[in-house]
Amino acid sequence: MPLRLYNTMSSQIEEFRPSRDNEVRMYACGPTVYDYGHIGNFRTFIAVDLLQRFLRQSGYEVRYVMNITDVDDKIIRNAAQAGVSVQQYTAKYIQAFLEDSAMIGIQQPILVRATEHIPEMADFVAKLVGKKIAYRTDDGSYYFRIAGFPSYGKLSKRDFSGMLDGARVDVDEYDKDSARDFALWKSPKPGEASWETSIGSGRPGWHLECSVMSMEELGESFDLHAGGEDLVFPHHENEIAQSESLTGQTFARFWFHVRFLLVEGEKMSKSLGNFYTLRDLVLKGYKPSSIRYLLTSVPYRNQLNFTFDGLRQAAVSVERLRNFRQRLSSGNFPAGLTPEMQSLASETLERMKAALDDDLNTAQAQAAIFEMVRRANSAIDSGQLKTGDRAPLLGALDRFDEVFAVLNDDDTAKMKAILHWARSEGREKEISAELRDQVQADQTSNAAIEGKIAEMEAARKARNFAVSDALRAELVGAGVIIENTKDGVRWRRK
Ligand code: AMP
Ligand code: ZN
Repeated sequence: MPLRLYNTMSSQIEEFRPSRDNEVRMYACGPTVYDYGHIGNFRTFIAVDLLQRFLRQSGYEVRYVMNITDVDDKIIRNAAQAGVSVQQYTAKYIQAFLEDSAMIGIQQPILVRATEHIPEMADFVAKLVGKKIAYRTDDGSYYFRIAGFPSYGKLSKRDFSGMLDGARVDVDEYDKDSARDFALWKSPKPGEASWETSIGSGRPGWHLECSVMSMEELGESFDLHAGGEDLVFPHHENEIAQSESLTGQTFARFWFHVRFLLVEGEKMSKSLGNFYTLRDLVLKGYKPSSIRYLLTSVPYRNQLNFTFDGLRQAAVSVERLRNFRQRLSSGNFPAGLTPEMQSLASETLERMKAALDDDLNTAQAQAAIFEMVRRANSAIDSGQLKTGDRAPLLGALDRFDEVFAVLNDDDTAKMKAILHWARSEGREKEISAELRDQVQADQTSNAAIEGKIAEMEAARKARNFAVSDALRAELVGAGVIIENTKDGVRWRRK
């Protein structure tokens, strides 16, 4: 079965296939870098990461481009307030975005920055003016004439037939209910950052950035364009209008929009006190893998209500998968194969693929892997699992993790980096006891723990109980839980 995806343009689930051979060309609207990214942003970025991972797993080559909006009204305002240049102001948040993305398991797309494509944007405006679809105002700004693009509104399904010809909007913060000619290019206001270009001095509008950079990187017509649901109108509508009126071709074939994240049942907002950056959660002591797991646990078009209970449950789920993997890879099992376990592994692969092919039903894919873990665990308990079952079951776990990316236990190292960052920013007060404990527990690396366990076992076999007890106490003190099972000693972190 090929992948089926919901396409906002057709309002239907459609079969997804790239237009050019085996290569998927896709674009996602990236962050506006005036602050640290919040968990709503990361719900969207993780959903698109999951899509591109699944496309690769399905055998496609993926060319995935994301922009960084490193100039807009807010950035200019904040930079001016801080008394630094736009570049200086954004450098810190671009770096933070890269670090946060890596922390949350996002494979880095091809990143393009608005400020590095200004001349191309000016040329694009000049071409639109040549086609009489854009016009210059007395102050040197340029606007897109939406009356000149009759299918304006086709993505958001808004009817603009009664719109006011020539009414304009010159801010990025658009009035959502009325259509206006929108700014492509803004003339500089005194003291504002601007660029000298072929169409005069000024700076690009946000919508223009995405049209120019996506087509430059992916061609005039590409396969998929993604973003959060708030971008449907006006941002994506305007991208379509600009691009298609210039090229006469379908700009993007599929439009992929991620439902807005709610936090504790409400829209996230600073005034409600339910606004969290990724770093806020890590400072509270939550693991990046728990956050990623939670953000992927609800299919991207369904409402996901982020709660701290949910986050704690996500941590338990990830731990369960990691413990199972450890049990499977380090246990001693009888020789041979069990047909039931062999088919369990292959059925799980099929169920995961079918779930993700179904408009990325991540919840079903997770359910499939947990069903496998449950049945394989009971087979281990009853001695039914054989050495020959290890590889296919581990294979299914790996396949799951190619897309979900939560199994490798590098949480503590990432959390340590956040702890150091908080110190360097003078934000010690926000470092929770949970984060400190987590980082300290890792003073002992996995290799050191395993070395100590081996020593402990050797001492016990030699009936040197004083030594084995001391080693056990040391490990427990470092937050290691040790269990004696018939497969040998198993351990995990608290
Ligand atoms: P911004 O940095 O505001 O331009 O947003 C970057 C991306 O995050 C865009 O695709 C937005 O649609 C998306 N986004 C912003 N807030 C949320 C939210 N609460 N839930 C899901 N996606 C969001
Ligand atoms: Zn965009």
